[in-house]
Amino acid sequence: MFVKDTLQQSPLEILKKYYGYDHFRKNQEEIISSLLNNQDTLCIMPTGGGKSVCYQIPAILFQGITIVISPLISLMKDQVDTLTSNGIPAVFINSTLSQIEQDDIMNDLKQGVYKLVYISPERLESITFVKFLKQLPITFIAVDEAHCVSQWGHDFRPSYGKIGNLINQLSPRPVLAAFTATATKEVAEDIKLGLKLHEPQLYISGYERENLAFSVVKTGNKRNYLLDFIQRYKGESGIVYATTRKDVEELQLFLQKNGVQAVTYHGGMSETLRNKNQEKFIYDDEKIIIATNAFGMGIDKSNVRYVLHYQVPKSMEGYYQEAGRAGRDGENSECILLFTSKDVQTQKYLIEQSASVEERKVQEYQKLQSMVDYCHTTKCLQSYIVNYFGGKVNADCGKCSNCKSELEEIDVTVEAQKIFSCVVRMKERFGVTLIAQVLKGSQNKRIKDMRLNELTTYGIMKSKTEKEISELIQLFIAEGYLELTAGQFPTVKITEKAVSVLKNGLKVLQKVKPSKQEVPIQSELF
Ligand code: ADP
Repeated sequence: MFVKDTLQQSPLEILKKYYGYDHFRKNQEEIISSLLNNQDTLCIMPTGGGKSVCYQIPAILFQGITIVISPLISLMKDQVDTLTSNGIPAVFINSTLSQIEQDDIMNDLKQGVYKLVYISPERLESITFVKFLKQLPITFIAVDEAHCVSQWGHDFRPSYGKIGNLINQLSPRPVLAAFTATATKEVAEDIKLGLKLHEPQLYISGYERENLAFSVVKTGNKRNYLLDFIQRYKGESGIVYATTRKDVEELQLFLQKNGVQAVTYHGGMSETLRNKNQEKFIYDDEKIIIATNAFGMGIDKSNVRYVLHYQVPKSMEGYYQEAGRAGRDGENSECILLFTSKDVQTQKYLIEQSASVEERKVQEYQKLQSMVDYCHTTKCLQSYIVNYFGGKVNADCGKCSNCKSELEEIDVTVEAQKIFSCVVRMKERFGVTLIAQVLKGSQNKRIKDMRLNELTTYGIMKSKTEKEISELIQLFIAEGYLELTAGQFPTVKITEKAVSVLKNGLKVLQKVKPSKQEVPIQSELF
């Protein structure tokens, strides 16, 4: 049974005694005291920021039982194992247990044997189970990965919708903390509403991960880049994300043929094999895992030195969550994204093929566009991420591929004016490719059929290649001079910023990469 004098100890004493850490990390202490003051609390921390401690310490200090709602069975088991080995009585109830085991645990819970009980949101769909919970002295509910509550989040889980009702039903009303790794403001709002939080205290630990170096790499030969990259990190752990199951399998074969061993993880594999591969990776028996986005939620592997995205993911939320699995131990680590525009088409295809309603698809296109903008911006990548999630940027990171590459700031006002006026002349009705073709003066039949060759802007950028013009357009989109409509065939529109360039002579200075430059592998730079 849990010793009574523990309840008199301070959070810091608990941290030292049960976790062996000497200091709290940013916001941990504030979050813990907010909860100890019975305040609903919403905490946004980057992956690896140390959320678990924030609810486990109040759970230890509260008189009653704490419910932790967690979306992943593997995560529950890990957390309960760690808590138990640290001497904190915790247990989980989920579908991996037999009815007899569950009954035993429920009895023990009534006897006050456990301080924390981890349950999956799906459990809340059972009326009997909720009735049972009502008999327990619950003082606190912690919802982990709370972004699953939001329809607009990237990991929506319908059963998360039941949590709000549970909170209403359990009386006296427990304090609730909602935690999420990457949440935009709108997702945070959804969490507040969905979980019926009462004037929650909001803690945002900043989105920066100082030990991560981000790079976007535009290379003609992704496979060679991957191979070269992995070989430089020989003996270190890394995750390679690919979009489809087929890509995962093919990459594994490719690496194998080149003498590099890797395990795979995707939704098409049997659960047994997936778990086996995951364990091998976690316990360092295998160094590399190639996976779809099915892999990773809740995985606490501290020594992942790199996360390489072989293709563009579908949203910044997903990307940062996945990339954030690198460097949880605080050591320098890399997050590389290999970009080709073809992969953007694949993501668009996936959106089109999905069963989502039209409104949702529009949202998905917008999220994808923000991801594409990340790939085209020449500004600090870490700052782009922080801005995207609504955080405050203090300074450029100094270690991402944009900060590191020798970009030259040049005056591109004339190019900008040419492009923006072409967009206007084309009545904002066309996409990037066609605009680039008109500016280039292409002989394309479609252009002639639509008499776009009669426009005054036809051929005014002949000296550049179509690709260079397209890249400039993409850059202006990323920098907010132009915007794309959401949809399968987005059209380019001008923004107020572009109007100022055209009408008020606003100068456009742009950092431009020397052409054909490949980004160096960052391990050489640290
Ligand atoms: P997440 O926010 O992703 O859930 P975790 O709670 O799993 O992160 O914490 C990530 C890692 O940081 C864990 O290994 C954890 O033990 C460690 N950690 C948490 N708090 C501290 C601290 N105050 N000092 C040092 N390490 C900590």
